[in-house]
Amino acid sequence: MREKELAILVSDRKYCLRFYESLDSESDHDPQEELKQLTKTAGAEIADCIRFDFLSPTPNFFIGKGQAEKLRDLCREKNANLVIFDHELSPAQQRNLEEVTETKVIDRTQLILDIFAQHATSKEGEIQVELAQMNYLLTRLTGKGIELSRLGGGIGTRGPGETKLEYDRRKIRKHITLLNKKLKKISLHRELQREKRKENMIPLVVLVGYTNSGKTTLINRLSAENFPHGDKLFLTLDSVMRRIDIGNNQKVILADTVGFIKGLPHQLMASFKSTLEEVNYADVLVHVIDSASVDVEGDFKVAVNVLEELHASDKPIVTFLNKADKLTVEQKRELQRIFPDGIFISALNGNNMELLKSKLFQLLKSRREIVKFSIPFERMDVLSMIHSQGKIILKKFENDGVKVTAEIPPALSGKLNQYKILE
Ligand code: GDP
Ligand code: MG
Repeated sequence: MREKELAILVSDRKYCLRFYESLDSESDHDPQEELKQLTKTAGAEIADCIRFDFLSPTPNFFIGKGQAEKLRDLCREKNANLVIFDHELSPAQQRNLEEVTETKVIDRTQLILDIFAQHATSKEGEIQVELAQMNYLLTRLTGKGIELSRLGGGIGTRGPGETKLEYDRRKIRKHITLLNKKLKKISLHRELQREKRKENMIPLVVLVGYTNSGKTTLINRLSAENFPHGDKLFLTLDSVMRRIDIGNNQKVILADTVGFIKGLPHQLMASFKSTLEEVNYADVLVHVIDSASVDVEGDFKVAVNVLEELHASDKPIVTFLNKADKLTVEQKRELQRIFPDGIFISALNGNNMELLKSKLFQLLKSRREIVKFSIPFERMDVLSMIHSQGKIILKKFENDGVKVTAEIPPALSGKLNQYKILE
């Protein structure tokens, strides 16, 4: 076990001021909230938050030596062993800051990479994260190179990349090539896994939404209600997947995701997508919104764009307005106007969980229909289409072809009208 990380967060003073000016004075929103949440998601505790001027960054210390020394005093006072900058730092700035503060210093990108490393749930995801780490290292290896081992352990060094920090540029490139090869192999394996899951016909429900919107709280609440003693059957499946019953004996697998992150550095896009890869296999998406966020509508729009980029915008999706316990009656009314189909829930106190489950049930039910087909022998490709996309309930070979009763998605049903047996 590594020692607990106690972090000091450093943000831009000007940004924070602007943030406050744009809000009404009664607002209790905190401009550093997002960085705080990311830090917690990465598993560190927060010792203190401080704001410095990022206005004229210096090449040596970013915030200037004077402020860096202040930072060192704060680290000592608070016993902090980590400093997180809400900004990108050059390798030199990072190294110099570490020397002056005598504390490990990381930037936003490293923090997010660490979160991805912890949340990569599949081999594919792990490799994607490792690739991002390697590429990140490459961009930072300049001149005669930096001492890669100086970071020690903990945030910014975790994940599969951790033991390979001694690699020089050439070795890293070689390693990147190897990782890309591995990725190709794995995608084949994943295809097989997906087939297996389809055989079981338990729909996959994937939770999406911003970090901190309450996805993990929701998944824990739902599974605690269902399986107070732990779901033994699926313990081996994945740490972020839970099987629950949403009523009428309908089982679903709920999959958690790390979710969206605001201001994601561009170089982390591929890695970020890999943490959301489950979305592609989802039967239904559950969008968990923090309805007490400053800009709920803006958050929603960004989420829709991300789903589009993941080619998942045609998936059935249901929106839940979480943290409703924090809203006033007027706020609720306003939100309901913006999201007429949104359902208020509270993952924290369990409010409206039954409604959530029945909404899911309806959505899944409407996704499948039971149809009877008569398929001539020369169109066995139709049979394999049904087999691959639905579940065959009954199959009987007769003189003129195969009679099949199957449960299939509506999209497929629409394509096979000519083979349907109308009763
Ligand atoms: P995730 O990043 O989407 O998985 O979010 P988490 O489930 O980790 O929740 C982030 C924070 O929001 C935690 O401090 C939760 O306790 C809090 N939270 C989650 N759901 C609710 C809710 O319904 N009401 C309130 N008031 N807080 C909530
Ligand atoms: Mg979570």
